[in-house]
Amino acid sequence: MAVIRITLPYNHNENDLARAVANRFGRGTPYRILRRSLDARQRNIVVEYHLTTDISDPADRITDGIRKQNMRLDRHFRNTPRPRPIVVGSGPAGLFCAYWLSIHGFRPLLLEQGPPLAIRLRDIARFIKTGALDPFSNICFGAGGAGTYSDGKLTTRIRSPFIPFIAATLVRHGAPEEIRYLSEPHLGSNGIRRCIARFLATLETQGVDIRYSSRICDFESRRDGMTLRVSRACAGASAASNEEEISISGATLFLACGHSARETYRLLRKRGVRMEAKEFAVGIRIEHPARAVDEMRYGADYRSRYPGIEHARYRFAQTWKDEGRAVYTFCMCPGGHVVNAASGDDGVVTNGMSNARRAGRFSNAAVVVNVSHYDLEHGGYEGPDGGCTLQCEVEERCRAAVNHPGSAFVVPAQKLEDFLEGRRSSSIDRSSCLNPIAPASLHEHLPSFVTDAIRRGMVLFDRKMPGFATHPEAKVFGPETRTSSPYRVVRHPVHLVSVSHPDLYPMGEGAGYAGGIVSSAVDGIRCAQAFIERFIESERFDSATVRHRSSDEPVD
Ligand SMILES: Cc1cc2nc3c(=O)[nH]c(=O)nc-3n(C[C@H](O)[C@H](O)[C@H](O)COP(=O)(O)OP(=O)(O)OC[C@H]3O[C@@H](n4cnc5c(N)ncnc54)[C@H](O)[C@@H]3O)c2cc1C
Repeated sequence: MAVIRITLPYNHNENDLARAVANRFGRGTPYRILRRSLDARQRNIVVEYHLTTDISDPADRITDGIRKQNMRLDRHFRNTPRPRPIVVGSGPAGLFCAYWLSIHGFRPLLLEQGPPLAIRLRDIARFIKTGALDPFSNICFGAGGAGTYSDGKLTTRIRSPFIPFIAATLVRHGAPEEIRYLSEPHLGSNGIRRCIARFLATLETQGVDIRYSSRICDFESRRDGMTLRVSRACAGASAASNEEEISISGATLFLACGHSARETYRLLRKRGVRMEAKEFAVGIRIEHPARAVDEMRYGADYRSRYPGIEHARYRFAQTWKDEGRAVYTFCMCPGGHVVNAASGDDGVVTNGMSNARRAGRFSNAAVVVNVSHYDLEHGGYEGPDGGCTLQCEVEERCRAAVNHPGSAFVVPAQKLEDFLEGRRSSSIDRSSCLNPIAPASLHEHLPSFVTDAIRRGMVLFDRKMPGFATHPEAKVFGPETRTSSPYRVVRHPVHLVSVSHPDLYPMGEGAGYAGGIVSSAVDGIRCAQAFIERFIESERFDSATVRHRSSDEPVD
């Protein structure tokens, strides 16, 4: 496929693009945009297009594959009903796994511990207003998973043939067409919520049985199938009387519990599922006035040179190879808000989000430092739970620093200048944080190697974008601890099943195989596809390790 590059001034219009395309390809030649990106590295900001005359849709190639596979599956299940898979978690991994299974003729049961969307949004609004947190219905948990209340950035560093299919699916459910080619597509929290609401409705019409407020609190896999204990989870109610037992013969469990499901990790450990500690990152969330970032990036006269230009983005990284240390910015939200993404009452966690228009007065990003296996072992955080223990300690310390019994659930904040100088801030100006904030000494509550690397990194980032570390209104919030999962649930590299439990597919961010909306969705599809291939290849597959049998209905 021939790809050409066209660069146009920042303020070009559609006619300019059409004219440039006609000059290169000839008048009237149909073309497709592969990628559109803003290049703000030079004084004159330009927009770069990558275009092709191959107008076939890459998502269609996947659809052809689905048709062929369905014919083979129909042959396989000619004499037996299809088994019913169980998907746990309705985040991007769980949703796309269930969708992929359903378009191949399976009717999965999808269990989500949190409530449906409307109730979840009400609970989050109450949390922001009063600080009353529902442990099953918050920014991390509930219909749509963490993705629902995310920033809705659809960038990913992975490559996968499933990405065009995921983008096309989101477009069919209300996302703008441009997410298929923008270099940094962004739906915003409101945009992704709209898509998820429609996607959930599609899943139900495809035969997915979605059960909310249904937390899997135990499971047992036997030769003839799987028995689950499901708690009708809601705040303050986890007594056995609220539990229900579901047995499904021949069932396979797809677990997409996300990176904050500490109870679910405990369950996996209890059931002997092989897990290990995974490296992750810890740090703070930094915020500047959006205009200040725009000026640093586009120049002081940017408003007259580029009227109406979107808020600027930045991305910095510094690695000290000899120390095995890295500091980097992550999940930047121009015109966004800082949020308290806690999923339990005992700790505070920051994250960032924005709406589609990114019209807020502040821009924020995480500044995080890698936590290596060496850091964990040398800090006394050994074993598979080491990373999670460190995360909990930091979150609890930060919570205790500013929250006292009976007080609202506030987020610790500090002027950047004070963080760098090691001083407590006496007061904090207005910020974008949706939750109440209070001045704190964040530098004291993070591991010292984290504070130290952030301080050193800031000096270097400021050289790349002068003013970044010295702007008088810059502030930091913390801690930013849930950058990715502190665990990896070990799975077979090809078949993707747990190495200890052959009827369990650990997937998505929580299992340690993704980081973000798109990569989690890809992983959900990969696991569903690996499961389907087990049937298609069943003649060659060792039947002793695969226990797919008949019956597709739950038996109580
Ligand atoms: C505020 C915020 C902003 C973000 N912004 C972005 C962004 O802009 N771009 C991006 O790519 N990523 C972003 N992320 C990260 C992104 O949301 C996650 O990477 C992604 O949602 C992970 O998908 P997942 O399916 O693996 O898990 P999750 O989305 O975390 O979903 C897991 C689900 O499983 C449920 N669950 C857990 N245990 C059980 C159980 N025992 N029984 C039943 N259900 C259970 C949970 O309630 C949850 O709903 C953001 C995250 C947050 C919190």
